[in-house]
Amino acid sequence: MSKIIIAIDGYSSCGKSTTAKGVAAQLGYAYIDTGAMYRAVSLYFHHHFVTLTNPKEVHKALSEVHISFQYNRMLNKSETYLNGLCVEDEIRKMYISDRVSEVSAIVEVRRAMVAQQQRMGRHRGLVMDGRDIGTMVFADAELKIFMTADPIIRAQRRQQELLEKGELIDLETVLANLQKRDHIDTTRSEGPLRQADDAVLLDNSHMTVEEQVELVTNLADQRISQVVRNGR
Ligand code: C5P
Repeated sequence: MSKIIIAIDGYSSCGKSTTAKGVAAQLGYAYIDTGAMYRAVSLYFHHHFVTLTNPKEVHKALSEVHISFQYNRMLNKSETYLNGLCVEDEIRKMYISDRVSEVSAIVEVRRAMVAQQQRMGRHRGLVMDGRDIGTMVFADAELKIFMTADPIIRAQRRQQELLEKGELIDLETVLANLQKRDHIDTTRSEGPLRQADDAVLLDNSHMTVEEQVELVTNLADQRISQVVRNGR
């Protein structure tokens, strides 16, 4: 069967990963959360006191970072590992969200992550979410989705997620973090967040997760049929 790549990009806390996971499960595809990779690098840099403006320190630290994903059967989800340790919970905390966009704007960091992501997708059959997947990592993805949602709704969803993990943060602080990340992510020189020309825009402010998964899965089915009929 012909397998495609589905690239899901968009602003912070639009629910990209929830939708991407659902679509991957429907299609029997792998799912890669590229934000988790930048978060894991940020965690390592933070704990090793890496000066972000010092290219030598960044280069050395980056050579010591090994990121992988492992499926946790008990929790029925994929988890992020940094140098063999599960960091899934730690990388979602607010102190990492506060730093990750500065780290992900560093050109050497981006090039290392993009190369690893391209290797992960070489056999296709993958749903990948992030900021530059449809424009940079897989500019040839057969299906590209660009997700957006009302900023207040995004902040409320993110606040709820943090609360479920035990972090009580006020809405203004969560909103300010999302806006700061969106600003850095859209204005950086390397791989900025932008909608690819051939991406489908999806505003999910008033959609349920099930509706989003259904919509994207239907689009994917159409693209898969096209690939079967016409080749890539
Ligand atoms: O997706 P998530 O919100 O976890 O991503 C965290 C941060 O990682 C983003 O704000 C962005 O700075 C960075 N990122 C990126 N490119 C990607 C995925 C995430 O720069 N492909």
